Amino acid sequence: MPEDALPSISLPPVADERPPAGLSPWQAALYFFEDGACRIQLDGGCADLLRRPWRELHVSVPIRRDNGTLEVLAGFRVQHNGARGPYKGGVRFHPQADLDEVRALAALMTWKTAVLDLPFGGAKGGVQCDATTMSENELRQITRTYTQNIAHLLGVSRDIPAPDLGTNAQTMAWMMDAYGARYGYSPGIVTGKPPALGGSEGRAEATGLGVALITRDTVQAMGRGVEELRVAIQGYGNVGANAARYLDAMGATIVAVSDIHGGVHDPDGLDVAGLQAHCARTGSVAAMPGTQDCSGEALLHVECDVLIPAAINGVINRETVGGVQAPLIVEGANGPVTPYADHELTKRGVVVVPDIIANGGGVTVSYFEWTQNVQRYHWEQERVEEELERVLCSAYRDLLVRAASDGVTLRAAAFMTGIERVAEAIRLRGFL
Ligand code: NAD
Repeated sequence: MPEDALPSISLPPVADERPPAGLSPWQAALYFFEDGACRIQLDGGCADLLRRPWRELHVSVPIRRDNGTLEVLAGFRVQHNGARGPYKGGVRFHPQADLDEVRALAALMTWKTAVLDLPFGGAKGGVQCDATTMSENELRQITRTYTQNIAHLLGVSRDIPAPDLGTNAQTMAWMMDAYGARYGYSPGIVTGKPPALGGSEGRAEATGLGVALITRDTVQAMGRGVEELRVAIQGYGNVGANAARYLDAMGATIVAVSDIHGGVHDPDGLDVAGLQAHCARTGSVAAMPGTQDCSGEALLHVECDVLIPAAINGVINRETVGGVQAPLIVEGANGPVTPYADHELTKRGVVVVPDIIANGGGVTVSYFEWTQNVQRYHWEQERVEEELERVLCSAYRDLLVRAASDGVTLRAAAFMTGIERVAEAIRLRGFL
């Protein structure tokens, strides 16, 4: 095999026994962990330690709504494992952000930072609310109060939040300010800030760019070119919209996109720049002139070469998996494919690139942002993009090699690698 050639992807044999359907997000994350731990024959004590989150905090977040009523929201910060470095993980504002979901997302961050070999552990935060219906004033209050209530767990060398579903660079600016009011100026306390406050160039686009790079390398390993691809993307926020933009620039055809309000489909290809402008004008991709309507669920069943779920978890499940036509799924969202659906897809020969590598571009550039903050230094966008491609694509190449040599799926290879690295850090530190 030439130096730069990617190993080809072949699907391993699949056990007859189906995983249970209807698992909660935490049960699903645990299912994939148990599979990986079993494959590397992890010893029982270490598995028990890695199975459990290290620390969980549940806080109340009272806010005064614009109509004068007082509402008390539930907020969480879960620190899953910090053996490899400070806890790292986003903060989500979403109605489904309960302890079970935040715990699952925190565990996925532990495996993701380990697979990418970044010097971080895994954490996640969330506030249970519908950010899409909140005013700027309400969102600012939620962010400040939530930050004050979890601030004792945070720290530039302890736990560093970032944006996720329903939060963005503005949210991170408020978090940095609320933390700084108590502990002093600390730009490295959050990543994904606006560049004017010490945020990294390229952080906002990083997860979508990473999804596009991983898609490109996967199809290359399958013997095809990115310019041949017809792509459908569920979720048109930070991850989905940027993935669409970069894949379009690489020559792929985006045939369908959707968001919470609806979706659009054009088998001949959507005008991505026009879509961006339409979305900026109307707040949604829905009803873009010259396209067919397509709901979020119908999008999963569109005829295409690559399906990128980039919205919420659990969307490809026992009920929806049967209609999926794409031969390749790249997980832009965290946990979009349930264990039941993952098993079905593998049995049908569908390649699934797991979240813990596919959407790792965001945390990789968060790491670059944190190092720039610690050094009080600023990188140009070009350097950020070059380093992102180097780190992400070399970690992915290692997974392709492992999947091929061990005869396992990409998800199993990713979990095996992540668990091994965290277990090694635990042993070296003398936890066990
Ligand atoms: P976002 O809030 O910017 O965008 C989410 C998009 O999904 C919006 O377009 C929203 O309308 C849409 N959406 C929500 N519910 C939907 C539904 N039921 N059906 C169809 N569309 C729906 O969020 P984001 O930052 O793009 O995150 C999306 C996913 O990617 C999440 O799972 C998140 O955990 C994951 N992720 C994000 C990052 C990051 O850097 N932002 C990094 C890694 C993983």
